[in-house]
Amino acid sequence: MPKAQETILEIDLRDLKHNFEYLKSKLKPNTKFMAVVKAFAYGSEALKIAKSLEENGVDYFAVAYTQEGVALRDAGIKSPILVLHPQTANFKELIERCLEPSLYSPKVLEEFIQIAEQESQENYPVHIKFNTGLNRLGFWEKDVAFILEQLRETKSLKVASLFSHLAASEDLNEKAFTNKQIKTFEKIVENMLPKLKDKPLLHICNTSGILNYPDAHFDMVRSGIGLYGFGNSEKENKNLIPIATLKSVISQIHHIEKGESVGYNRAFKSQDFRKTATIPIGHADGIGRQYGNGVGYVIINAKKAFIIGNVCMDMIMVDVSDIDCKAGDEVIVFGKNHTAEELSETINSISYELITAISQRVKRSFIG
Ligand SMILES: *Cc1c(COP(=O)(O)O)cnc(C)c1O
Repeated sequence: MPKAQETILEIDLRDLKHNFEYLKSKLKPNTKFMAVVKAFAYGSEALKIAKSLEENGVDYFAVAYTQEGVALRDAGIKSPILVLHPQTANFKELIERCLEPSLYSPKVLEEFIQIAEQESQENYPVHIKFNTGLNRLGFWEKDVAFILEQLRETKSLKVASLFSHLAASEDLNEKAFTNKQIKTFEKIVENMLPKLKDKPLLHICNTSGILNYPDAHFDMVRSGIGLYGFGNSEKENKNLIPIATLKSVISQIHHIEKGESVGYNRAFKSQDFRKTATIPIGHADGIGRQYGNGVGYVIINAKKAFIIGNVCMDMIMVDVSDIDCKAGDEVIVFGKNHTAEELSETINSISYELITAISQRVKRSFIG
């Protein structure tokens, strides 16, 4: 791998393929795979990731918002794209770009029908989302009659799928709750399917659902974090490879005498002699201030170097007193061995938050 000369997020498309194939190997041959590429493919880079996944045979994409779907269409992605959280204001554009909305409430259903009819659509594919316990977005079981009535009265919609979302699929202590969610979904589906003219796909599993609930894969699964290399458990992390390595470089070494301070607000005051390295990455790049003052660390020449003092907007200073290093040496912020999950745990966060926070200012580079 090339040595970094500035802060870059290096993305290995071969590892993406490995993760996709590993997750696929958990499915029955005809179960479809929806790749979740919201939030710039979890902070990596959505367009190249989606292109690569499309070439490798993904069936469907999901994004959170309409604009994310529009960007994929602009990049030439032809596969169907589910918009998980569309906003009414964007429905017209969503239809123009052949994006498929998740409809999750009576209000959103009525508004979408109105616009689809205005746009003279027939059988426009939509996805009906049910709340089975996450209590975030979704119709309730009791809304089924209303949904069916609305669908009967219009020619403009086709139900492409019925789906729900699990609240704690990674937590085996919540198995009973998750099984109850799955049962509720099955009950809704059994009630609804015979009354629909369409044959919608059924789906409920995210990455941890795929890995922990093999009997609940239904017709399709939706995977995000697993594709990017995290399995939400020690066991599954071993089977997946983080696709992104955040690299940087030492800008300068400083020698700090006893009694001197480092950084803004003089947050670090030295009790003894220290050697520090200044790294060109800061809170504007996604390394939040919570990592400061000895909490977070980077890797320099295979050793942990903890952040000293406050995280600045564009820089951190790290303690390299015991590390043989010099300006120009490579720094690993997270990667395959020292993972984003481990770094995020130092602030009681999760891999999802750290990787999606890496700002657009950090250059992306691709391998494979
Ligand atoms: C983000 C999201 C997913 C992907 O979840 P992972 O845990 O990253 O696999 C799946 N479904 C919905 C509705 C989501 O919002």
